[in-house]
Amino acid sequence: MSYINNLIVTFVQLLPKSIVRVFSGKYIAGDTLQDAVSLTLELNKKGIYTTIDVLGEDISTRDEAIYAKNECSKILDAIKKFKLKSNLSIKPTQMGLMLDSDFCYQQLSELLDKAVAIDNFVRIDMEDSNTTDKTFALYKRLRQKYNNVGVVVQSYLKRTLPDVKSLLPFKTNFRLCKGIYIEPEEIAFKSKNEIRKNYLDSLRFMLQNDLYVGIATHDEYLVNESYKMIKELNVSVNKFEFQMLLGVREDLRTKINEDGYKVRVYVPFGKDWYAYSIRRLKENPQVAGHIVKNLFGLK
Ligand SMILES: Cc1cc2nc3c(=O)[nH]c(=O)nc-3n(C[C@H](O)[C@H](O)[C@H](O)COP(=O)(O)OP(=O)(O)OC[C@H]3O[C@@H](n4cnc5c(N)ncnc54)[C@H](O)[C@@H]3O)c2cc1C
Repeated sequence: MSYINNLIVTFVQLLPKSIVRVFSGKYIAGDTLQDAVSLTLELNKKGIYTTIDVLGEDISTRDEAIYAKNECSKILDAIKKFKLKSNLSIKPTQMGLMLDSDFCYQQLSELLDKAVAIDNFVRIDMEDSNTTDKTFALYKRLRQKYNNVGVVVQSYLKRTLPDVKSLLPFKTNFRLCKGIYIEPEEIAFKSKNEIRKNYLDSLRFMLQNDLYVGIATHDEYLVNESYKMIKELNVSVNKFEFQMLLGVREDLRTKINEDGYKVRVYVPFGKDWYAYSIRRLKENPQVAGHIVKNLFGLK
């Protein structure tokens, strides 16, 4: 299967950029912040929230990190100006995490000060496992000063449930996802069942301990099990939301919304779309499979 997936990645890379753009467009709002604003307004009309992300990661200089922070700051300005039902997601490496953690903390502090002023929230995405410890350290440091910051955990990592438990004293606002990077089997579950089990065990711990959770998945099994858990534990609707990526399982998203649960869509935008799409494909070739299926209209 992975051989086929790798072939698909190679195939996608051989396609002209203009064609890749057509089908990766489903997953990306557009090149500009205005594109993300327009899309958010459309989704808001349907009662769906968003979290906006400016594409880009793996920066190598402070200037690039400062530029990215300024772009994020503009997102917060737009949220205020257009009264968007949205918040901000950031990639810690894009903010300079791997350059200098103090500098990255300062960058995030600036964004969080601004978010506090407009009663908004910043989600720190989780990247590959080389960044996990540094990301949690950054989050814990920020959390001492700010209430409006949350982090992400990945259920494919074996460390995740202990991590979730260790973040309990911080009354953490979590996003719980499976994880998108390719990780070694020493540290990551590889089977679907183990990843699902770790997801549900982590979710149960969060909900039982009154922690807010963004249930980020398109896996219908996990959505159904989350529904059951929410009912079983009698969880208040203001303690969770469902989260999905733009362009993925819109049918399921609509159903959850119609069932009366809060849904938030992750809306990336930016000129870095090609590099982003190709990197995503390389990191997780299964996504290439989804793209090719979309390309050929397969379900
Ligand atoms: C809001 C949000 C934020 C996220 N943030 C992070 C993060 O910070 N760090 C991180 O590592 N990962 C993040 N992810 C990605 C996540 O970890 C998974 O890789 C991704 O959601 C696929 O897992 P799944 O739970 O949807 O289950 P899967 O079993 O992968 O997918 C379930 C079904 O959804 C559909 N599907 C899934 N992905 C696609 C796609 N790309 N195109 C078309 N159909 C698709 C398919 O029908 C598939 O069968 C995020 C995901 C979401 C929804």
